[in-house]
Amino acid sequence: MRFLQTEIERRGARIFELVDRHPEPLLSKAGFYQRLMALSMRDERFKVQMFRFVDVLPSLRRSGDIVQHLDEYFTDMRNGFAPLVRTGVRAAKSVPWISGQLLRWNVSGMARQFIAGKNPDDVMKTLRKRHEQRIGFTVDLLGEAVVSEKETDEYAARCLELLGHLARETDAWSDPLDDGAGLFPVVNLSVKISSLYSQMNPADPAAAIAHLAPKLRPILQRAKELGAFINFDMESFSHKNITLDLFKTLFAEPEFRDWPHAGIVIQAYLRDAEKDLVDLIDWGRASRTRFTVRLVKGAYWDYEKIKSTQNGWSIPVYLQKPESDANFEALSRVLLENESIVTAAFGSHNVRSIAHAQALADELGIDRTRFEFQLLYGMAGPVKRALVEMGYRVREYCPVGELLPGMSYLVRRLLENTSNEGFLRAKFSDNVSEKILLRDPNELVRESPNGAGNPDSVSKDRHLFDGASLDVPPGDVYENAPLVNFAYQQSQKEMRAALRQVRARLGKKYPLVIGGEKVWIDRTTASLNPSAPDEIVGDVAAAGIPEAERAVKTARDAFAKWSRTPFEERARLLERAAAIMERRRYELSALEVFEVGKPWAEADGDIREAMDFCLFYAQQMRRIGRPRLTQHVPGEESYYHYWPRGVALVIAPWNFPIAILCGMATAALVTGNTVIMKPAEQSAVCGAMLMEIFEEAGVPSGVLNFLPGHGSVIGAHLVDHKDVDLIAFTGSREVGLKIWESAGITRPGQRELKRVVCEMGGKNAVIIDSDADLDEAIVDSIYSAFGYQGQKCSALSRLIVLEENYDRVLERLLSAAASLRVGDPEGPGMSVGPIIDKTAYERILNYIEIGKSEATLAFQHQDVPPKGYFIPPTIFVDVKPNMRIAREEIFGPVLSVLKARDLDEAIKIANGTDYALTAGFFSRGPANIERAKAEIEAGNVYINRSCTGAVVGRHPFGGFKMSGGGTKAGGEDYLLQFVVPRVVTENITRHGFAPEETPLYRDEFRVHS
Ligand SMILES: Cc1cc2nc3c(=O)[nH]c(=O)nc-3n(C[C@H](O)[C@H](O)[C@H](O)COP(=O)(O)OP(=O)(O)OC[C@H]3O[C@@H](n4cnc5c(N)ncnc54)[C@H](O)[C@@H]3O)c2cc1C
Repeated sequence: MRFLQTEIERRGARIFELVDRHPEPLLSKAGFYQRLMALSMRDERFKVQMFRFVDVLPSLRRSGDIVQHLDEYFTDMRNGFAPLVRTGVRAAKSVPWISGQLLRWNVSGMARQFIAGKNPDDVMKTLRKRHEQRIGFTVDLLGEAVVSEKETDEYAARCLELLGHLARETDAWSDPLDDGAGLFPVVNLSVKISSLYSQMNPADPAAAIAHLAPKLRPILQRAKELGAFINFDMESFSHKNITLDLFKTLFAEPEFRDWPHAGIVIQAYLRDAEKDLVDLIDWGRASRTRFTVRLVKGAYWDYEKIKSTQNGWSIPVYLQKPESDANFEALSRVLLENESIVTAAFGSHNVRSIAHAQALADELGIDRTRFEFQLLYGMAGPVKRALVEMGYRVREYCPVGELLPGMSYLVRRLLENTSNEGFLRAKFSDNVSEKILLRDPNELVRESPNGAGNPDSVSKDRHLFDGASLDVPPGDVYENAPLVNFAYQQSQKEMRAALRQVRARLGKKYPLVIGGEKVWIDRTTASLNPSAPDEIVGDVAAAGIPEAERAVKTARDAFAKWSRTPFEERARLLERAAAIMERRRYELSALEVFEVGKPWAEADGDIREAMDFCLFYAQQMRRIGRPRLTQHVPGEESYYHYWPRGVALVIAPWNFPIAILCGMATAALVTGNTVIMKPAEQSAVCGAMLMEIFEEAGVPSGVLNFLPGHGSVIGAHLVDHKDVDLIAFTGSREVGLKIWESAGITRPGQRELKRVVCEMGGKNAVIIDSDADLDEAIVDSIYSAFGYQGQKCSALSRLIVLEENYDRVLERLLSAAASLRVGDPEGPGMSVGPIIDKTAYERILNYIEIGKSEATLAFQHQDVPPKGYFIPPTIFVDVKPNMRIAREEIFGPVLSVLKARDLDEAIKIANGTDYALTAGFFSRGPANIERAKAEIEAGNVYINRSCTGAVVGRHPFGGFKMSGGGTKAGGEDYLLQFVVPRVVTENITRHGFAPEETPLYRDEFRVHS
């Protein structure tokens, strides 16, 4: 080991010596780029603004817009460079037409530093130059994020064309090392599978492979014919298993099995990289397929960390840089030790990582012609030269494409170059010593105070607060339940098993539960599978008036004791329920797939939300549960506290069949109310499951009663009942307004003024600004409009597009919608399932007819199953704000697109409805974003993301106007709707004497009888 370290240091020193012979700063291009990068490395906020500006710039067509954005991004900066930047901005503003062009020219120059050519012809100039320097190439086609199958076809066609072009142009080229050419063809193309299939769903690798393989085969055949090499690049973790499986599938085919010119990437920053590499090698040996692995650390480190933390997933990447470095070295060894089946390509700019590979190859007796080093175009030029001088094979990764589609690539490279952790910055900018740069990363891991980073630590870190500090956001003291990550095969397996298990018990009967007793009655309602309406999911008892009366009486009787039960005990009940949901998680999701037609991830999201409601409200109850002193006043004590209201009637919809029912019921329970829970008829089996969970969790008899039945029969009766004190309703505007109205009438014998918590629908708008990032805007709009078939109250139904962008948005939007997979969500990869029932199905079809008569039908999906309540995703254009399809809630997969002249008009259209639930805005203009935040009328406004998918505690959810009474489910003031506040004041003075200390909290009067 010591010998290896000495050898690494020797080789590293040699590389540095050669590098120093041709000194070059990190920022090889002097001038604008160099200055900006230097500023970015010194100031984080400047870096963020600068990257954002660079990101939006190519989409700006007018010089005035460029200068406007420059102004908005930079004038407000409070840092050491502010005066300098402000002067620059002022100068730019005085002559916008010159400065706009100048800025574009400079940023194009920056991009040219990393993009090897605009098109196949252009890139040849670079490749020829490199060939003279004995540097090979792999070419990567840059493009917009692919959002439709039409775009994937274009990418595939570009790959074929490029292969032919490169082969023709390099026909006479020989191997730079005049050796080992059999393993290293001159023409080498890197492909990204996300550019070849737009509907990749990590839960459904089989479908992804079935779509990708036919797209790739012609490319591989052509490459084989031309003697070229194809490499599968690796992208985000969610695509990793699909990429690996696809590789193994294709190269096990007789046509390609003996072809050694295919490669794949392994990312050393992933914790399971070694397992993947060993699996690949075993596969290669078993099928006798020689292949190449490009070993890299990985380009999506920040993304993986952010995404996992947001979803509560364990983080798949190492958290400390030396861990990735050490793993790179461990994997280098695995690769070189298996040289007989796998060819190694080391993709790194880090001299330590490179020197390690060299030293190890020597130790293992592997000739330097048998592996290669790969480096990115525009980075670490001197290292490439040094390696060539040392006689190693070097290949440059050369992106080809226009500036606009190349922007995300450019920003990734800028990040890499300016990263605090990166080798390049340390060596070429911060001048860190060679000795430090060549240290053994394993030693650094051992020396680190935290040892190896814990994959769960980042998501936990933020919850270390005790909640007392004013700086902690209220939602932040709560840690959300994680989503299931269907990228793992284990999760897919468990979900499939749960679907089988639930399918086996379809058709079972479910009773009412009143006072802890199961009540079987003859009247039942069959809950049907909307994907196959001849399939009965369950037969659920349908309560009538006598059962409703009994439930109210039982709940009333139970109230006396439950309201006096300590809140801690009530909170624990919710926590036990959440734990049971966690245990039965897949089974509950599977039930939702059958009963309400939710695709897998949507169903899982619903269960996660239900768990979150339990855990969040338990926590909130502990926050508000104890009587709290109002003021420190000598001689007097005043304590503010809450009493429950009484009997709560919970009426829930079918679209979030467990979460919403659970959210309203738990809010009522934890605050000390007793509950009558009426699920929607269409999702009554889900309701029965929730009841089962609470029974297992130990809810006392009578405290929670399960009363499925027809709204028209028992709903109205219960709403009007004198002994019902609170109604928590989520559902349609029509029913909600009726409840609101009749709850206002005081009946004879009624004790309390009824409180109504009412959440209704929306006619939600998303605005796409003229400078929006369309890659994001299209994908998120499609998801917002058609996710769960548009049957979410938060769903997008009016897409308002600024005139300037209209044609481009429409073109991409329609082809993205055409690529959606519509079908029975029992299969894992469906993005659009069925409509809930026949009534809804007919109502939506009727709206589509209305749309056809009012506006222009621009798109209707063709590929829809013949059986079941499937409605094809439908898009109307030329829609005007006063049309019915733009005003009325459709609650289905129907999207209206409206054109707006400018942002004023767009906001006016967005606000011009009866509703105010959710809204979205896509823009990269800071001033416009601030306007949207301030002016759009909606309870939940989302900027640059989808307008659905609210997370408990993070996005308290609910609207106003005709969308609801202004309450926020999953928010910190939600529980206050379920209680009445009280204040008890006591004069504690006796003959002029009063105790000096008054406790902040007291427990004495928090219960009443
Ligand atoms: C030719 C080539 C092709 C590539 N192809 C791909 C590809 O297909 N897919 C892909 O994902 N990447 C790919 N990369 C890798 C990526 O783009 C980066 O260039 C590479 O990770 C930088 O590593 P380095 O060894 O050059 O630099 P170093 O500075 O030594 O390492 C930087 C890397 O360390 C990791 N890192 C940073 N901070 C931390 C931290 N706190 N904890 C743990 N790890 C951390 C990150 O991966 C980061 O990129 C490729 C790289 C090259 C050179």
